[in-house]
Amino acid sequence: MSLAKDFSKLINCQDDSSDKDKICKCISCDKINNLAHPDFTIIERSSMCSDTKCVSCKSTKGQQIRECVISENIISKSRFKPFMSNYKVVVINQANYLSKVSSESLLKTLEDIDSNFLIIFLIENLSDLTETIISRCQIWKLNKISNQNILEILLEKYPDREKDIAEIMSFGSPTLGEASDMLNDPIFFEERQEVLRRIVKIFNSPMSDKLNYSKELSLLYRKDKERVLNELRIWKNLFRKILRAEDADENLETISILKLIKEKNKLKIKKNIENILSAENNLKFNAIPSLVFDNFIINLEV
Ligand SMILES: [Zn+2]
Ligand SMILES: [Zn+2]
Repeated sequence: MSLAKDFSKLINCQDDSSDKDKICKCISCDKINNLAHPDFTIIERSSMCSDTKCVSCKSTKGQQIRECVISENIISKSRFKPFMSNYKVVVINQANYLSKVSSESLLKTLEDIDSNFLIIFLIENLSDLTETIISRCQIWKLNKISNQNILEILLEKYPDREKDIAEIMSFGSPTLGEASDMLNDPIFFEERQEVLRRIVKIFNSPMSDKLNYSKELSLLYRKDKERVLNELRIWKNLFRKILRAEDADENLETISILKLIKEKNKLKIKKNIENILSAENNLKFNAIPSLVFDNFIINLEV
């Protein structure tokens, strides 16, 4: 997203003389920074169309990128020239959440599009975007930034949050964007601690309690998919962290949890990670959630 914004600023910048290492103050860059540029739009899962009565927006709120949003922000706009800049840019964040209809509706626009209209799809796994869209795009692959680099960037940006940053970095391998989101989310730390406590409890409970937990997950999944997926991610990251436990920072709160599971052997932990990956994968391909969670729980190696 940062790159997409910087790129949009660069191609629309109105100050040729400006030093590109500094923050440019020209009207175009300034408006993009403030997300107030008429030719720069970001579409997210949470984006709604301008029709306040739109049934589609209300019924699938936040679950996918809807066709009405695509139609309003891309297809209609593609007929007009940029308002104040050289290029009109639309960035689709998490493009894997484009609904099937949304993807299909884009195909014709992508073919006929003017050279001064850019659509940027941001996506983590290219395979989550349909082949028909990929074939109409130019692909830029970004390498993952190393944990060390992310750590340095975050420390420079948030010098007073050293402890929080260490905690985030010690837990799995977040991307730079994920790590910044976590830092800026006040309930993140609290919620994560709570999930961790629950995981340890479940891990050490009899099968009947474990199956109850599985039921809770599938109920919650119906209401709030993202939260359950996040919980699975925390499970996964916890096991991944245990695999690398020898360099764990002793000051972390998670260390007490780690000690509980630390004695388990690596093979078991790897099997648990595979177990979670396959649960995530099955959910992605719309398997029945209750079966997925039961399977996950039953196959958990303790
Ligand atoms: Zn500028
Ligand atoms: Zn709508």
